[in-house]
Amino acid sequence: MIVTNGKIITWNNQDSILYGCALKISEGIIKEISSQDEILTKYPGEEILDADGQYVMPGNICAHTHFYGAFARGLGIPSESPDSFPEILKKLWWPLDRSLTLEGVYNSALVCMIDAIRHGTTTLFDHHASQNAIEGSLEQIALAVEKTGLRVSTCYEVTDRDGIEKTLRGIRENVRNIEYVKKQKPLNGRYHSLFGLHASLTLSEKTLDMCRDTLPDGSGFHIHVAEHPIDEYDSMRKCKMRVVERLEKHGILGFNTIAVHCVHVDAGEIVKLAESGTWVTHQPRSNMNNGVGIGDVESMLRMGINVCIGNDGFSNSMWEEWKTAYLVHKHNNLDPRKMPGDEIIKMGVCNNAKLATHMFGGASIGRILPGARADIIFVDYQPFTEMNTNNLPWHILFGFHESMVTMTMVDGKVLMYDRKLLELDEREIAESAMNCARGVWEKYNTLFESSEEK
Ligand SMILES: [Zn+2]
Repeated sequence: MIVTNGKIITWNNQDSILYGCALKISEGIIKEISSQDEILTKYPGEEILDADGQYVMPGNICAHTHFYGAFARGLGIPSESPDSFPEILKKLWWPLDRSLTLEGVYNSALVCMIDAIRHGTTTLFDHHASQNAIEGSLEQIALAVEKTGLRVSTCYEVTDRDGIEKTLRGIRENVRNIEYVKKQKPLNGRYHSLFGLHASLTLSEKTLDMCRDTLPDGSGFHIHVAEHPIDEYDSMRKCKMRVVERLEKHGILGFNTIAVHCVHVDAGEIVKLAESGTWVTHQPRSNMNNGVGIGDVESMLRMGINVCIGNDGFSNSMWEEWKTAYLVHKHNNLDPRKMPGDEIIKMGVCNNAKLATHMFGGASIGRILPGARADIIFVDYQPFTEMNTNNLPWHILFGFHESMVTMTMVDGKVLMYDRKLLELDEREIAESAMNCARGVWEKYNTLFESSEEK
């Protein structure tokens, strides 16, 4: 296939926008980028994908999400509103994940993935929980990945909150899935697995050791870190250490591990995250929604930590998350110089691409260059001021919207063209998800009624 007539945003160093060039794609890989005339002459008779003057750029990457949270949309909590993040966990997320069946897991993953295709997000790192449907839950996510054609890393959230038996089952689900991915390399490498941990505050010393001891070679963890001060207080109480020190002691940190949020870490913890090469993800929409504060992301970047951007289950339009990150640090610090546009690109583009390329292995992800995975979107944006390499971040932050994404391709396969999903019947999938969600909401209300949370 040859992609023609596009203005190509490569996200590669200086030559970020190419004019008059075409892409040659085969076997899911970008094989060549050269002048359009040259490519068309060299490869006569190839299938043509005409970008019709739109911007052609790498698909966006989401470094942390929760597909399982899809059915929270519109769900009312049948009691007083939670007054803190720990209460939000107890009143919303925990009873909701306990209400999911395997069918619910599949449907919630499917609707999130459709949202991602529509909004040009082609790679996602999911963190899954369904405490009454543990075994086979990650397989349901794999089935949704197969059906939608996206690139997804997932994991099962191990937690002690429901007793040791479920802790062990969660561990087994992670190990089984990681081994399966290692052996089978399913879906042409589009499906990946990490070892999920909820957060320090729901994991005992013994469980952390068990997780580290059962982690298959070459894999890593995906864990929430210091999202709320309670995580730090709990860690001090359990072992007189701060959360990052505690995780270091148990061998959880490192270049294969993702530490999510890190809102309340101190300078010493930032140093440990940097020294261990641990990835950190920033989700400002979720932080604002939960009222937990905003992490000192600029210091982490300055220390050389690879801070990435995720969405924590918010909409899969990553530009919305970038825009929130761009605004919130200025607002919080009463300083409009904070978090400039190029820092947003460093996280949302460069570091997210590094993370995806590292975790999935093999070809580069998140850039347009020869040898990279053909994960590409078309964006119908008409700039009315000059747009160049230097001011591109600000054109995106102030001008790009998710509705401008007209084509989404993953691994060289077109999933949406001219805003139409090519192989998925969105209406039918939404109806089936709604039927499933009714049962999940019913179960949620029953669990809530019988619990002390009411
Ligand atoms: Zn999360």
